[in-house]
Amino acid sequence: MNGIGILKGLSVTFKHFIETYVDDIRYGGRKYLGTENFEVRQGTQAKGAFTVQYPEEKIAVPERFRFVPFLVVNDPDHPDAPGKDWCTSCGICAKVCPPQCIWIVRSEDPVTNRPVPEPEAFFIDIDICMNCGYCAEFCPFDAIKMDHDYELADYDRTGVGEHIHDKPKLSKPYEYWYNLAPTTAAEEAADRGGWEHTDVIKSKKKSGEPLMEKPWFMMRTEDPEARARAEAERAARAAAAAESTVSAADIAAERHARRVEALTRHRNWLSKKN
Ligand code: SF4
Ligand code: SF4
Repeated sequence: MNGIGILKGLSVTFKHFIETYVDDIRYGGRKYLGTENFEVRQGTQAKGAFTVQYPEEKIAVPERFRFVPFLVVNDPDHPDAPGKDWCTSCGICAKVCPPQCIWIVRSEDPVTNRPVPEPEAFFIDIDICMNCGYCAEFCPFDAIKMDHDYELADYDRTGVGEHIHDKPKLSKPYEYWYNLAPTTAAEEAADRGGWEHTDVIKSKKKSGEPLMEKPWFMMRTEDPEARARAEAERAARAAAAAESTVSAADIAAERHARRVEALTRHRNWLSKKN
């Protein structure tokens, strides 16, 4: 019969309309208060129609939501290397970025002028970034991640740190990344074989040093003694380094000798091959 479809559609709308009020009564008005109720309202158990009162309320984003990238650095009170960049300035992210909106300047050793695996400067033009997440996918060191912060509107896009994010603006501690995406962070740590940077894990495994059982910020919160121990160890290492008689020039000379040795080996191998 003509009009049955329209009536069916209207009945669904009417059901939603009624359910909105029934749900309000069920929650006794608490539906609009507190994080827990807000989550229920946005989840699969929600009934009826609702309006998100943005910007006071915001739709919760899923863990894999991605907006602009940021750089992971060690927590500021990390016992071994506070605030150290995870980025090694390998440049892979800049190469794979489709709109080419990443610029990296690699650090150099002031004594030897040789490249150091950390960025001196790092810029991302977030107005050009298309939020594809390729940089985060391809980074071999889990050093660049996609943020959930989407409120980036501004009156001036030109200044460094405004819409051209520089290294200080991009750098966020590991704790921030973990809280943003705990499942992904745990999966990545399992793949790396530990909670620290890939290079740190490799060198600790080589030297037999124990790996961190949890991310540093958890150890610090759960076990204040672990923090005191780590700080004492760090102080002891710093004192030992200060007492060391090996100067930066000695280290540079040793590196140079090793490089010459490697080059000689390579040339010998080439001459034998030819
Ligand atoms: S791919 Fe990762 S480690 Fe390499 S430059 Fe980009 S952020 Fe740094
Ligand atoms: S998210 Fe995509 S467009 Fe944005 S910086 Fe990363 S690779 Fe480039």
